[in-house]
Amino acid sequence: MRIGIIICGRYQDCGGGKCFRALRERLGSFARYPKDEPLEVVGYSTCGGCPGGNVEYLPAEFQKNGCQAVHLATGLVVGYPPCPNIRNFKSFIEGHYGLPVVVGTHPIPMKYMETHRQLPFWKDARMQELADDLLSDAPDVMEAYN
Ligand code: SF4
Repeated sequence: MRIGIIICGRYQDCGGGKCFRALRERLGSFARYPKDEPLEVVGYSTCGGCPGGNVEYLPAEFQKNGCQAVHLATGLVVGYPPCPNIRNFKSFIEGHYGLPVVVGTHPIPMKYMETHRQLPFWKDARMQELADDLLSDAPDVMEAYN
């Protein structure tokens, strides 16, 4: 499987540690891929900063490297506030490029989970529909990604 990862421009200096760890451990949104099958990252970049202009072009570059699915990084979900454009990005990439979009990469760190439980953002954005994989991870997995 070949994937491209788009991270939130607010975290543009992120070294990708949690994403690549989860990819190796097949946790979070990577749990959908069998551990015994190769999983290759063929592209990794930011949305370009609000409102996410890079999303228009990145998938074309990913596809040149054989991308089969795009992951919107967990940072888009856990930020304060979460990215307001997740649904638009998903619709555009799936509609225009024909690439499936998965919302999430690494498991949600428990400290973000606890804070978001007290905030209205996820409820207002119907995040459970968008990122069910992530929000359903076991507590010990979330703790391990704190
Ligand atoms: S909040 Fe959304 S549009 Fe803004 S920088 Fe992050 S991913 Fe990009």
